[in-house]
Amino acid sequence: MAVADSQSAHPQKTDHSPEAVERRVADALAALSLEQKVRLLTGADFWSTYPEPAIGLRRIVVSDGPVGVRGEHWDERDPSVSLPSATALAATWDEALIERLGALLASEARRKGVDVVLGPTVNLHRSPLGGRHFECFSEDPLLTGRIGAAYVRGLQAHGVGATPKHYVANDAETERFTVDVRVDQRTLRELYLAPFERMIAGARAWLVMASYNAVNGATMTENALLDSPLKDEWGFDGVVVSDWFATRSAEAAGRAAMDLAMPGPEGPWGQALVAAVRSGAVPEQAVDDKVRRLLRLAARVGALEGVAPAAPAPAQLPAADAARLARETAAAGMVLARNQGDALPLDAASLRRVAVIGPNAAEGRIQGGGSASVHPHYAVSPLDGLRAALGQRAEVLHAVGARIHEGLVPVAGDQVIDPATGENGVRVRLLDANGDVLHEEHRGVGRLTFIGDERAKRAAFIEVTARFRAAEAGRYRIGVAGVGAYRLTGGGQVLLDEAIAPDKDDLAAALLAPPHRAAELSFAAGQELDLALTHAVQPGAVAVAFSLGVEVPAPSDEEELARAVELARSSDVAIVVVGTTEAIESEGFDRSALGLPGRQDALVSAVAAVNPRTIVLVNSGGPVTMPWRDEVAAVLLTWFPGQEFGSAVADVLLGAVEPGGRLPTTWPSRQEDVPVLSTKPENGKLIYAEGLNIGYRAWARAGVVPAYPFGHGLGYTRWEILGIDAPPSVAAGEAVEARVQVRNVGPRRGRHVIQLYLSRPGSEVERPVLWLAGFASVEAEPDQTVEVAVTVEPRAFAHWAAGRWQVEPGVFTLHAGHSATVLTRQTAVSVDA
Ligand code: BGC
Repeated sequence: MAVADSQSAHPQKTDHSPEAVERRVADALAALSLEQKVRLLTGADFWSTYPEPAIGLRRIVVSDGPVGVRGEHWDERDPSVSLPSATALAATWDEALIERLGALLASEARRKGVDVVLGPTVNLHRSPLGGRHFECFSEDPLLTGRIGAAYVRGLQAHGVGATPKHYVANDAETERFTVDVRVDQRTLRELYLAPFERMIAGARAWLVMASYNAVNGATMTENALLDSPLKDEWGFDGVVVSDWFATRSAEAAGRAAMDLAMPGPEGPWGQALVAAVRSGAVPEQAVDDKVRRLLRLAARVGALEGVAPAAPAPAQLPAADAARLARETAAAGMVLARNQGDALPLDAASLRRVAVIGPNAAEGRIQGGGSASVHPHYAVSPLDGLRAALGQRAEVLHAVGARIHEGLVPVAGDQVIDPATGENGVRVRLLDANGDVLHEEHRGVGRLTFIGDERAKRAAFIEVTARFRAAEAGRYRIGVAGVGAYRLTGGGQVLLDEAIAPDKDDLAAALLAPPHRAAELSFAAGQELDLALTHAVQPGAVAVAFSLGVEVPAPSDEEELARAVELARSSDVAIVVVGTTEAIESEGFDRSALGLPGRQDALVSAVAAVNPRTIVLVNSGGPVTMPWRDEVAAVLLTWFPGQEFGSAVADVLLGAVEPGGRLPTTWPSRQEDVPVLSTKPENGKLIYAEGLNIGYRAWARAGVVPAYPFGHGLGYTRWEILGIDAPPSVAAGEAVEARVQVRNVGPRRGRHVIQLYLSRPGSEVERPVLWLAGFASVEAEPDQTVEVAVTVEPRAFAHWAAGRWQVEPGVFTLHAGHSATVLTRQTAVSVDA
């Protein structure tokens, strides 16, 4: 705790003035030896820093992030509130809502003893194939920056640090540890650095995470971009933390503006950095600056005795309030892309039989894969949500229709019994080299992750035992997903005994989306089999993750499809939930294609052919292609919506709330239309040859029409923009306060996002066709006209040239519209020199 008792050498103070903090930090720094200072600069373990009781410093705990706070344990017994993916958050275009989420995240963080959240992820959607696309906000730097800044403000207002990541140009996963991104200065400034600038110079984030990749030849943990613009121009006074294992040297990284090497306790600093200081290779001042920043962070989060934290601890949010906010946010981010003949909202009173079809209907996919994933308290599927909302009023029936063949999935608690207790779940034992038990526990699921776990580090073997029970007769595949040596027995017979090599050259992928091996076995209904899986732990492994997995027998694809079509034909409405999974959209690797996996496209077309009221929900973190989109009545893009998926779906489909989202990224018709697609480096280099033209800017330049443009989203009423007023001329460096008159010309109250774009006809400077320059939301009743003020900041008129921001004097066109392609009003603004 930050608060010292009367015995402490650092009496309690309530002052958090910058002077008091700086004084306290300077005193603490002065009291440390070089060894003590250097020790603080590498993690004490996977998720925390070293304490230094002599100066009243406790450890600082960090956690992923960003759509929930996992805490120090990757464990289903320590669940978290699970919020919608970043794409969904950006789709709200609602900074006030995102700030409110900050309070929720801060409360989650404190509940779990966490001081710092490792988020938001603010890299850009350069290509829709990017594996972490779902985890990033948008293809536009302004939208990314504004939503990200709201996230930072919300979190830090409650005393929990935010960590915008990954600085910078970490926009894809292929070869992410080594790729050298080649990008020109103007593109860096106007696109990739811009969101960070807003979160650092604007929202004053307390940390920033340096990425794995290199930019223009220097790896980011040693890159001069950490000095400039980050620390000098933007005045960043917080901590640059390395991405996990991204610090690669004592001297170069020690001299660089990198402050905290994570994780620990091993790492390239420690004694090597002490020696480098002693030899003069790294100036001691560099170490002092890093420690000063770490202590300042400690003061902010309440980890340094003698100064009050920067903000009071958040109130503990009751679970029901957290659920309500998660539900509101999920609905606010859902984008109604198509709504023919006002197919939505559905009139609940007129429904007697509702078909809920698709692979993601009964198992909603609430999140993407990788370090951003959390163990949710629960997840409401679309089927659950609709059943709860429609209650006795209508029959709600389900058919899978098409499977996403995922291979093995971790056994669920209700498929297995812990042989030691008879409860649902598995028995896990950590054994030493002699087979003696170091630790033993019951676990609820077959997926086990030990990251930085001290007990697992000491273990030679991890053993999982379970009694498997076949729910129905058929052929099952039972096996393991993991990297390393595994032996699996069933009823004492060896089923597998293999050293499994990684299939991807990425540590995170090997841990989070590992290869699998399985044996095929026939079971009678209700038949049981005792399983024992033993993993020989690699000595010194910092992280171990594997699952005992099963693939249950399933009807043929033809049978599944036929059942779904039959159900759709005999129902009043067919709701088809298609999508991806966390194994398809994940950290550690990029997607190979944008099509829906399996036979989902065929499913949608077949259902639409028999039921004109076919409503498709697309449950993915990023864009997928939808060749059937003109065959169906409505398309609702739900993203990965977090634990309240099904409740939010019911709210939206039945009209209790509007689907509030507007696209934060362009959705293509066909993969081959995407202007910037490849994420594959060539000879270790990924060249951002398109410069400023990513996302809608690139689509506009190519003159290709996407399926749904950036900014698009329908809601349940209709809007007309009647006019836009702006001062005809402003001085360079002055903001433009535009006023837009908007009328609700539809049937109900609603909210709309008014978007302003700039263009520059006849520019002397090479520019995108248009760029987002401001946005604001309006709310109005039917037939009501409202006027909304939208600020266009001076930066929107500026471009980066010759090492500084410049403005080309002359006339810009300011467009007001509903999306990047539906711009209905415009006015000229002359910017004077
Ligand atoms: C990811 C980071 C994450 C860190 C800790 C890295 O592999 O790139 O986003 O915060 O792991 O889990």
